[in-house]
Amino acid sequence: MTTGAKKINRFLLSTTRGKTIETNLPLGGFGVSRYTLDHFLLQKALQNNCTVLQDTVTDVQFENELFRVLTKDGKELTAKVVIGAFGKRSNIDVKLERAFIKHRSPFVAVKTHLKGDFPEDLVALHNFKGGYCGVSKVENGNLNVCYLATYKSFQQYRNIETFGQEVLCKNPHLKLIFENSVPAFEHPLTISPVSFSNKSTVKIICLCVAMLQA
Ligand SMILES: Cc1cc2nc3c(=O)[nH]c(=O)nc-3n(C[C@H](O)[C@H](O)[C@H](O)COP(=O)(O)OP(=O)(O)OC[C@H]3O[C@@H](n4cnc5c(N)ncnc54)[C@H](O)[C@@H]3O)c2cc1C
Repeated sequence: MTTGAKKINRFLLSTTRGKTIETNLPLGGFGVSRYTLDHFLLQKALQNNCTVLQDTVTDVQFENELFRVLTKDGKELTAKVVIGAFGKRSNIDVKLERAFIKHRSPFVAVKTHLKGDFPEDLVALHNFKGGYCGVSKVENGNLNVCYLATYKSFQQYRNIETFGQEVLCKNPHLKLIFENSVPAFEHPLTISPVSFSNKSTVKIICLCVAMLQA
């Protein structure tokens, strides 16, 4: 089984006014959507006899050298080792009272997929006032477009469309992309706050989607 991921080996960076520098990426990378990647990983896990439970973890406790994982559906799992792969911000972070969750962060992120032209082997980072936007192709030919902006720059517009036109499109490369493409998503996805503060790798090691070796 393959994902059809696009092979990426060039990188382009542009300034807010559109000046560019470009380089090769000797190690290269892949352009693939989470939709496809997650499905691929799921199939791999099943092929390797993993048991997959789809549920929400509500608590993780550690006692007598054993983890207890409690889920929304009322399951209770015990394991010697538990791996937390629950992303940037989860109810588990709240439950574990991780320090970063209490701090405001000044960033907002917006992501969408577009249908339009773009080289398959390129990943571009285009700067704009208050943030930057990454662009690369994914397995089905759509452009993955994702930007990070400060609240400060975003809040005067409060609207993704206006912010796009008034701020992102000041960069001629982004203007070209937005003017010559159509959205593949009904609405862009937004996430905020995006925190870049240090997180301890071990608070308590916990699990999001239980993949237990059968
Ligand atoms: C708006 C935005 C745009 C981005 N765009 C790009 C991009 O274009 N290119 C790129 O390379 N990276 C991008 N990133 C970063 C990329 O998404 C992350 O680095 C990557 O998704 C992290 O993977 P992860 O598996 O650690 O977490 P996630 O992808 O967040 O996966 C965590 C999973 O855990 C699940 N989960 C959470 N809590 C629980 C719980 N209690 N119980 C059970 N399950 C739970 C969630 O539902 C989710 O499925 C973007 C990030 C954001 C926020």
